[in-house]
Amino acid sequence: MNSLHLKSFTRCKRKAWLDFKGKKSYEVWSPHKAIDKINQFQIFSEFCNGEIYTGLKACENGYQGVIGLKIKGNLYQNINAEIRPQLLVKTKGKSKWGQYKYLPAVYKLGRKTTKEHLFDLAFCSMLLESFQESKIEKGFVISTFDKKVKFEEIYFNKKLRRKVLNVLLNLHECLEGSIPEITKDRKKCTICSWQKFCDKEAKENGYLTDIDGIGSKTASLLKAKEITNTQILASYNEKQLGEKLSKFNDQKYEKASIFIKQAQAYISGEPYFIYNKSTEDLLEKICSGFYIFDIESNPDEKHDFLYGFLKVNNLSIKKEDLIYESTLNLKNNKEESYRQIIEILFSHKEWPVLHYGETEKISIINIAKELNFSFEEIDSLASRFIDLHILIRKSWILPLKNYSLKTVSNWLGFEWVQKNVSGSKALYWWIQYQITENEIFLKKIIQYNKDDCLATLKIAEYLIKNQLKKN
Ligand code: SF4
Repeated sequence: MNSLHLKSFTRCKRKAWLDFKGKKSYEVWSPHKAIDKINQFQIFSEFCNGEIYTGLKACENGYQGVIGLKIKGNLYQNINAEIRPQLLVKTKGKSKWGQYKYLPAVYKLGRKTTKEHLFDLAFCSMLLESFQESKIEKGFVISTFDKKVKFEEIYFNKKLRRKVLNVLLNLHECLEGSIPEITKDRKKCTICSWQKFCDKEAKENGYLTDIDGIGSKTASLLKAKEITNTQILASYNEKQLGEKLSKFNDQKYEKASIFIKQAQAYISGEPYFIYNKSTEDLLEKICSGFYIFDIESNPDEKHDFLYGFLKVNNLSIKKEDLIYESTLNLKNNKEESYRQIIEILFSHKEWPVLHYGETEKISIINIAKELNFSFEEIDSLASRFIDLHILIRKSWILPLKNYSLKTVSNWLGFEWVQKNVSGSKALYWWIQYQITENEIFLKKIIQYNKDDCLATLKIAEYLIKNQLKKN
């Protein structure tokens, strides 16, 4: 077992097991991991004033920062382990290499120092002490805040050492045993490289958390009432189930009805229509033309790096004839990109702006505020935005696990030109573009954003087409 297994174990036991014993062909490359690695290297490099080197030689030479080291050792009663310190930082002291020693450091994304960081540091200190022949009293958690590198010192007291040893023994036992259950908190799965593999098993076994709106707490509540899988849930009627959902108070029958219909749709593969007035109005609003708008962002830096618009004069226009325009938002030239966006939006003042999810509208309102638009102007601009994510949820119960743009449009048969893409992958390309300035990454992002716009259009068409059929 190694540091990476420990990191996975603190998130999900099954992930640690799969990382260790799972078939690698079932694992999907995760842009999150790659983004993490790039950020990590940049911050470490700044922390060590650019003096970062790789491997054992770097320790022998006494460089300030050392990465890429793997150290094997005996953990406890013949249990072998391997640490992979994210960074070793040179400090005063005495070690087998001379009048200095190294302390372990980890990178932290976000503000909160979690047990994942503490355990990683404490585990590294255990094997590093005997390896460098020097006591380690503390480690560092390194992060950035307001574009400045910050660090926190973590002291390794007896309690922390004991705790991490216990976790490591549990991890050892887990890795020796059979595959653990899928985690109860399926939110953790969204950025996991084993998601596809676990999703398949969850669906086959009728996991309740596959039903949109059912999280780990509601799933436990249903299980306690002997509703243990989606099949049983789908067989209930609204009244029977509502009685069992008293925790939802006044909403219990409404919730019950949605859960049952969602489970029935999920099993049968058939969508279920709910009447909604706003969908009826959609056709009228968009009949004389509309925009589809989608942005690409870096949520950690709260930076929208690309704005994409698709101009749709009418729904019968051929896809190849649609005009797509994108605007890059470079940090040093944001006024120019804001001007371009407003120009596009106001070239057809009366056109509604269709988007999927709340971020696009929020982003435009913020831009309008920065440009000192009046309250009335902001209000009138905001009123042009139509969120298709809200609309589809209000009008349909779809046979799907969630209502994300990818899931819904894939179900409708839409395919992205580039395979295995996601918002995180676009962010990964953006980071690559900033480092290399290679235009190929920009082209990939623009193609991805254009496809996001076309996928949104596909959903708009579905809403309109089926609304017309129902009338
Ligand atoms: S997909 Fe979810 S259950 Fe499966 S390993 Fe990852 S976090 Fe655990």
